[in-house]
Order: sequence, then C-alpha cells, then structure tokens
Amino acid sequence: MQKRILTGDRPTGPLHLGHYVGSLANRVRLQHEYDSYVLIADVQALTDNFEHPEMLEANVFEVALDYLAVGLDPEKVRIVVQSMVPELAELTIYFMNLVTVATLERNPTVKEEIKQRNFAKGVPVGFWSYPISQAADITIFKADLVPVGEDQLPMIEQAREIVRRFNRLYRKVLIEPKALVGAMARLPGTDGGAKMSKSLGNCIYLGDSTETVRKRVMSMYTDPTRIHPTDPGHVEGNPVFTYHDVFNPNKAEVEELKERYRKGTVGDVEVKQRLFDALEKFLAPIRERRAEYGKNRARVREIIMEGTKKGRAVAQATMEEVRDAMKLSYKFA
Ligand code: ATP
Ligand code: MG
Repeated sequence: MQKRILTGDRPTGPLHLGHYVGSLANRVRLQHEYDSYVLIADVQALTDNFEHPEMLEANVFEVALDYLAVGLDPEKVRIVVQSMVPELAELTIYFMNLVTVATLERNPTVKEEIKQRNFAKGVPVGFWSYPISQAADITIFKADLVPVGEDQLPMIEQAREIVRRFNRLYRKVLIEPKALVGAMARLPGTDGGAKMSKSLGNCIYLGDSTETVRKRVMSMYTDPTRIHPTDPGHVEGNPVFTYHDVFNPNKAEVEELKERYRKGTVGDVEVKQRLFDALEKFLAPIRERRAEYGKNRARVREIIMEGTKKGRAVAQATMEEVRDAMKLSYKFA
C-alpha cells in the first residue's frame, strides 16, 4: 500500500513564503510518491478566531487556490475541509482522555503562541488543547509522514505519544506519524522576527502582486548596525540574505553579494533589488496559475468538495476501527 501524507494549514489568510519553504515544497515534491491529503484546518482556525467565523469561507477558498497555484495536482492530492469531517471531532474527544493537563501545559509552541495572542478574556480551552485535535487530524488519515515547519514538531511528538497510548491500551489501529521539516525550518519575517506568520503581519504572500512584493522587499529589515552602504555589514541573521539563500538559485551572485556586504562595498538597496528579481522569478508562475484557477471558481469548488468527500471516507473507515478497538461498536446481543 502507498504511504500517506497529511498536512494542513489554518485558513486565517492566504499562504506565504514561509509555508512554501517549510511545508508546501515538500508536499509538491512528494505528491507523486505518497497518497496525499491536505487539510484546511478551519476548526483549528476558530480556536483563536471564534469571534470572526465570517472570515473562514473566503480564506478556505484562498488556501485552496494557493495549493493549486504552487502545483499540488488535484488528481493526486485531496484537499479536505476540516469542519466537513465531523469524525475528527469525535476522535478528538476520545484522544482527550489520553493526554494530561500537564503535558498540554508544557507544549512550547502553544506557550509561545498564547504569549503572542495575548487573549484578553483568558486562554480558550479549544486553543490550548489544539495539539489534541491536530493529533486526530493526522491519525484519522493514518498518515505516515507530515511535512511541517519547525514550530509544529511538538505537535507531531504529541500525536506520536497519543498513538502509542491508544495502540497499547486498545488495539493497534493507528500509525505513528513522522515529521518532515522543509529546507527552511523556520523562515523569518520581513521584520526580522523569528517566524513569518499570518498572525504577525510580516509576510510576503504567494499571491502578492509585483508591486506589493517590491514594496515588502524594499522595506525589509536588514542589519540594524549598518548605517552607510560603506559600513561592513552582517550577513548572518540578516533576513535579506536568508531569503537570498532560499529563493535565489544563482548561488554565485549570492556569494558575491555576501562578500561585498561584509566589506561594505554594496548597499542594501542593490541587495534588495536582486532579491526582488529572484522572488519575482519564483512567484510569477505561481501568481499566474493562481489567477487562472481564480477565474474558474466552480472548478475550485468541485476540487474542494470532491477532495473532502474522499477524505471523509478515509476518516469514516478509521473511526469504524477506532470504535471497534475501544469496544464502542455495541451489538447488545
Ligand atoms: P497562523 O499565524 O494563523 O498560525 P501560520 O502562518 O503560522 O498562521 P499555519 O497555518 O499555522 O501558518 O502553518 C501551516 C504550516 O506552515 C505549518 O506546517 C507551519 O509549520 C508552516 N509554517 C508556517 N510559517 C512558517 C515559517 N515562517 N517557516 C517555515 N514553516 C512555516
Ligand atoms: Mg501557526
């Protein structure tokens, strides 16, 4: 049997360069070898956006467009909408018994995200416990491999622990998933922050126009210690060079720029201009495909509905086994 991939994204906005290098690139690369499912995690998006459910529908569509734009082939990859697979909620409830409060409280990614979000009325239980529902997402599809960014590693570890407990306690039904981190485990933001993230407003989106990309690149954070173009600059930890390393295929040009930057013989403007050129080359075909699909909403809708139907069938089959293993398929005979 073909091995399976499951990954997902929260429809809190369109996808950006960080998603691409952290996870999407691996999904595109592996779609021919693996039976692949991508989950648009709208239920998870609600955990910190429950006051604005009206934004979900449009964002689910945008994320689907991004998938198609980067080259996920709808014949190979099933696009699944989380809220349309209610079996996920059921599995989440069963998993809740297998995780302690202390374990949830130790999750470093959730801790960090809670700090960032600064929940005014306290941390919602749904947000705090989302690693459990994410474990249900992964395991209901019996995924072997999960291509993710580095911030998701504690979630995969949590899923593995739950699987081990479940299989030991009830019966070996579930598969222990492995994480696959992308070429860039954590792409920094254009503001120099540790992570490009929709919620932080430091992104270059895959669908951004040429003009927007130019503006965002030209206003990027660089080396704060450098005041004049003739000052020797720092390349390490400078997000402009991090992006060059990832998105500029002309390695000789990148090396030359780095050398000149260190010596103080190149200005920020030129380094950014060349980055913009490289990014444009990378983004133009994605933008074109996005526009093509954008014109054909009926087709995108069909891809989403069809993918969700196939995904739900897999989820239902797993749940039959889960209930059976948990002695919940009562016969009362
Ligand atoms: P939000 O701020 O709403 O949480 P996000 O930008 O963090 O949005 P997610 O939908 O939470 O995006 O993440 C989807 C996937 O993309 C995850 O596998 C995550 O690890 C990966 N990812 C997100 N941002 C980055 C980044 N800057 N670098 C590498 N991978 C990333
Ligand atoms: Mg996130």
